[in-house]
Amino acid sequence: MTVRRTLPQRTRSLIGAWCFADHYGPDDVADTGGMDVAPHPHTGLQTVSWLFSGEIEHRDSLGSHAFVRPGELNLMTGGHGISHTEVSTPDTTVLHGVQLWVALPDAHRATGRDFQHHVPEPVRLDGAEIRVFLGALAGTTSPVRTFTPLLGAELLLGPGATVTLPVDPAFEHGLLVDTGAVRFADTSLRPAELGYLEPGAARLTLTNESDDTARAVLLGGPPFEEEIVMWWNFIGRTHQDIVRAREDWMAELGGPRFGEVQGYDGAPLPAPELPNAPLKPRGNRH
Ligand code: MN
Repeated sequence: MTVRRTLPQRTRSLIGAWCFADHYGPDDVADTGGMDVAPHPHTGLQTVSWLFSGEIEHRDSLGSHAFVRPGELNLMTGGHGISHTEVSTPDTTVLHGVQLWVALPDAHRATGRDFQHHVPEPVRLDGAEIRVFLGALAGTTSPVRTFTPLLGAELLLGPGATVTLPVDPAFEHGLLVDTGAVRFADTSLRPAELGYLEPGAARLTLTNESDDTARAVLLGGPPFEEEIVMWWNFIGRTHQDIVRAREDWMAELGGPRFGEVQGYDGAPLPAPELPNAPLKPRGNRH
């Protein structure tokens, strides 16, 4: 699959608690074979799978069995440890979406594993359609609980349309453009580009400068004040946290910390080797 990593990058590790944003597709599954990710662990984070097209079958060690579909939020909490699989379904012809991670604050990073599903009602404004999957925007609020204040929304903008949206001035924001050309914070963003706006804005103005419908994902939250260590599928605070998570996964490949995924035909994914140098914490300020 064609995957474009937009977060983290060298100059920015987090936007609010959002710490990872991959943009993938549109991929013709007949060419790429689609998605088939064997059991793998997560710790210290939540994952958001948000699709534009296609369908993914999700199974996890809580026993959740769900289908990830366009316009539907699936929020998985790794907490102390979870394992899961993701497989595109046979009906999928085009796979296209974003994979997002949220860092859990220290006070909650060892929380129990969890899985939530929510289908936001689209909000229609003049020239725009908005799906708020986390937080509040455009007069609507997602009921899904988060551990830090967050905003996550899909925006569709008609050709040439402009919308102005009141936002929380304590939030920093990122806009990941999927299609079209969207002016955000005085910058014109092309597909697969991530724009960033520091805290302080009470409203955001977005303009679709293209002749086609633009689609973008808006992310936000107050700056995450903790430094994190992120490696493979784990988030911790220290190199040692990651060493421990890796050891637990490799010792068990399923087991008390991460649990077992039922119903997937295949072996769990081994963790890669750790680098020789200690993993460095990263945060807002570097
Ligand atoms: Mn995963």
